[in-house]
Amino acid sequence: MIPFVDLKTQLKALRPEIDEVISRVIDQGHFVLGPAVSAFEEKFSTYCRTDHCVGVNSGASALHLALLAAGVGPGDEVITVSMTFVATVAAVLYCGAKPVFVDVDPDRWTMAPELIEAAITPRTKAILPVHLHGLMADMDPIMAVARRHGIVLVEDAAQSHGAEYKGRRAGSIGDIGCFSFYPGKNLGGFGEGGAVVTRDAGLARTVRLLRDWGQEEKYRHVLPGYNYRMDAIQGAILNLKMDYIEGWTEDRRRLAQVYDQELAAIGQKRPSAPSDTRHVYHVYSIEHPRRDALQAALTTAGIGTGIHYPVPVHLQPAYENLGYGRGDLPVTEALAERFLSLPMYPELAPDQVVQVCRELERAHAAEQIEPASRAPSARETNKVLESV
Ligand SMILES: *Cc1c(COP(=O)(O)O)cnc(C)c1O
Repeated sequence: MIPFVDLKTQLKALRPEIDEVISRVIDQGHFVLGPAVSAFEEKFSTYCRTDHCVGVNSGASALHLALLAAGVGPGDEVITVSMTFVATVAAVLYCGAKPVFVDVDPDRWTMAPELIEAAITPRTKAILPVHLHGLMADMDPIMAVARRHGIVLVEDAAQSHGAEYKGRRAGSIGDIGCFSFYPGKNLGGFGEGGAVVTRDAGLARTVRLLRDWGQEEKYRHVLPGYNYRMDAIQGAILNLKMDYIEGWTEDRRRLAQVYDQELAAIGQKRPSAPSDTRHVYHVYSIEHPRRDALQAALTTAGIGTGIHYPVPVHLQPAYENLGYGRGDLPVTEALAERFLSLPMYPELAPDQVVQVCRELERAHAAEQIEPASRAPSARETNKVLESV
């Protein structure tokens, strides 16, 4: 058995330290924000190479507040992608704004820069690319469009802690970057969590106010805000995990290298990771035209897989009223049918990766045999006879 995710092995190794930091929070009795969260914010801001970090209670909250701070409101449009987790799009709707989808690049799987310009209208307030699976979107051309039109750029970096593009970290290139610390993310708490990072002191101040009821000081509310505060226990756990994140990321990258080699050997296309990027492999996904059959074969072999994501946001029942339908985003729609995510976590052993690839090879072979295993049609039989 090789599970798709395994959070338990990591917990086991860290358990004594985790118990200690949780106990400290309980002893201090400061359960919301406070010193544990501030310490984490400081570390995470440095890690992202930005100047400010504001801890919040989820990635969705981070996106919501980043967009609000960027001035996104009712009647505005935000250009984003449909190949993402629904939270990206939901956050736009929380602001009363309209998500405008552009398709993704067929190789990189992130926002196609050349499609942005045509989607811009006088109402466009922000561009919101997603660094999918841990690979950063092609930020230079995306930023160029944003700057040319004076539009704010918000990065959805929920899957890309520590990822880099031309030496710059995820969350540090746009005006504001958003992270999630959901347990399964590359940096995950023991519950919900998120953060906003930025170099802009004004944006940071607004997000800081909005996460805590718009309070400038106790009972003085200068903005209509939210309760999006980060728990102290999450802050303490995340702060501790910051000591390990680089090691875990390098483990993921080493495992990806093993996948890359093994998959190249069996002729399976591997995920794109341009040399000017640092892919952090939140997800290691392959594309296959017979994805469902491949997934079934791996399941039978005891190998857990996932699909990120099987139904793009614009085709979800909840978002039908956005006015998009099948055929509107052909690359996104094709990828949703072809994506298959393979096991990927720091605790996975390289020989387990090899084992997954052996099973993939076997499934490939079985897939090729399958069409011939049914009775040949009369036409096929005739062809065979003619060729003899
Ligand atoms: C996980 C995720 C989010 C939402 O984060 P939560 O902490 O679950 O609210 C947003 N965008 C992307 C791309 C994600 O993967």
